[in-house]
Amino acid sequence: MEKDASPPDPSRQRNGFSGVLYGEFSDTLNYGVRYSVSLTEGALTIQRISSSPDRTKVVFNLSDCIGCRAYRGPDSADIGAYFTAYFYPFKRRWMSAGVARQRVEQCFRVALVQEPLVNLQEAERWAHAIRDASLMQAPRREGVIYTELRRPCRTMILVNPQSGRGQALQLFTGHIQAMLTEASIPYTLVITEHQNHARELVRKADLSQWDALVIMSGDGLLFEVINGLMEREDWQQAIQTPLGILPGGSGNALAASVHHYSQSPPAWNEELLLSCGFMLCKGLVSSLDLVSVHLASRQRLFSFLSLAWGFVADVDIESEKYRHVGPIRFLMGTLVRLASLRVYQGRLAYLPAKETLKPPKGSGKDPPSTPKKPSLCSSLPCHLLPNASPKKSSLKNCIDTNLNQNSITKSSNVITNTILEPHRNNKTASPVDSLLPSLDQPVPDNWTVVNEEDFVLVLAIYQSHLAEDLWTVPGAMADDGLIHLFYVTAGISRPALLRLFLAMEKGSHLACGCPYLVYEKVRALRLEPISQQGMITVDGEVVEYGPIQAQVHPGMAKLICG
Ligand code: ADP
Ligand code: MG
Repeated sequence: MEKDASPPDPSRQRNGFSGVLYGEFSDTLNYGVRYSVSLTEGALTIQRISSSPDRTKVVFNLSDCIGCRAYRGPDSADIGAYFTAYFYPFKRRWMSAGVARQRVEQCFRVALVQEPLVNLQEAERWAHAIRDASLMQAPRREGVIYTELRRPCRTMILVNPQSGRGQALQLFTGHIQAMLTEASIPYTLVITEHQNHARELVRKADLSQWDALVIMSGDGLLFEVINGLMEREDWQQAIQTPLGILPGGSGNALAASVHHYSQSPPAWNEELLLSCGFMLCKGLVSSLDLVSVHLASRQRLFSFLSLAWGFVADVDIESEKYRHVGPIRFLMGTLVRLASLRVYQGRLAYLPAKETLKPPKGSGKDPPSTPKKPSLCSSLPCHLLPNASPKKSSLKNCIDTNLNQNSITKSSNVITNTILEPHRNNKTASPVDSLLPSLDQPVPDNWTVVNEEDFVLVLAIYQSHLAEDLWTVPGAMADDGLIHLFYVTAGISRPALLRLFLAMEKGSHLACGCPYLVYEKVRALRLEPISQQGMITVDGEVVEYGPIQAQVHPGMAKLICG
């Protein structure tokens, strides 16, 4: 919102209004106060009609407007009709620095004639014009390709009442419900009753009834929804359903990332919620990368956020018990884990992003050949893999065997790489991971094998934020086609690790010059834990502990953003 105290434009007085609409309306509380209102393609300009020299003009940018409604007043004797436009401009915060989106409504009374219906028609004409002009004026980021949500956007909103501090439903009714009404978005609210409820629901839903699926929770509920969509026979079409995120959990990484991609100043808590609600109402959709994750049991998952092992996974899961304190639980968990800092043994390999996207050997496109060097990150023996018992004793045995370099070389020689076969559902094959050999085969030659085996953490992340206040990948985009791989090797001191996490609040951890922190942009990776105990998380959810590999599928899903 800009304030402009200049007198009315004389050229307009001379030639008449040259914009889309011009009208004169009353204040809704004091009919004697009148305003001249003009609507152009980009703005709604309001100026009080007065003989006094104070003719302050207020200009509302339509890119901040989510909707406009016309209606009759509650008094049936009132001949007037009304229209209200809803704006969420950036305004200075009360009591603190910076700006955030805040709600402002502008309401006018239309009383052109004595006939109420004619006045209502005029109010509707204005509401319609403001809505249409606002939809054309969504804040777009340069270089991003957008589509727009279908209007009216039939939206399913899934709320996890247990997420965060258990307040997601109250946050929805307190902040989002009214916005959806203002933006004329018809929605159905689904309150999940148990874990995987949302996953089962979207797996079976008639998606032709929905133009968007919106998650009001932390990242865990979106993980359910994405996997539910990918488990469908019609996954190719299902995963094109625009997905929205409203932060209601304690780990609101995607919400923080989407807000960040919109190039808005940092926001937390209710301000972040309002920002995400605003983006939902504006209805711009862009692409979202998904990462296909394979576990040793042959289970396959789709991930939109992260794969973590070691420190980060431990903090995420161990801090569950502090859930009642909200997002600060991660800081508490970090401090507790720092006090008992652990080193985790394992092998890590990845396909650097700069490598050409050629398929691994044996995929049918390259002649089979023997790997040039034994891969440190070669696979576990086959008996551990598909259908093998995940018992820890056998895990230890086979890892011990694998630690012997000769056996790795041998197995590399005898096994020919094949790319992962598409999993067969009844009708439709699921997406092919063309960059990944099977987990029981060595990684291809164009992969980099990390020499270290002692790690404090391994984190693969594909969004900018790991949590509301952890800006982990400054340059990340939702559809950059990259897995941002971080690892911290053993030897880092507790204060140095704490410094990294504190610096991450401002996204400056890579500038710390920490020799134990490595950052690589990759397209695929494999991790083989050697330590018998530990935790691996995918999008903040615990998955089976053991060998794991992943590859990115650029732009596979659609995300509501701004
Ligand atoms: P938070 O960020 O607070 O952890 P999430 O959205 O990640 O919130 O949800 C936490 C976990 O709760 C996820 O594993 C999710 O699958 C699960 N979940 C979803 N709905 C329910 C429910 N109604 N009751 C219990 N758990 C649920
Ligand atoms: Mg979670």
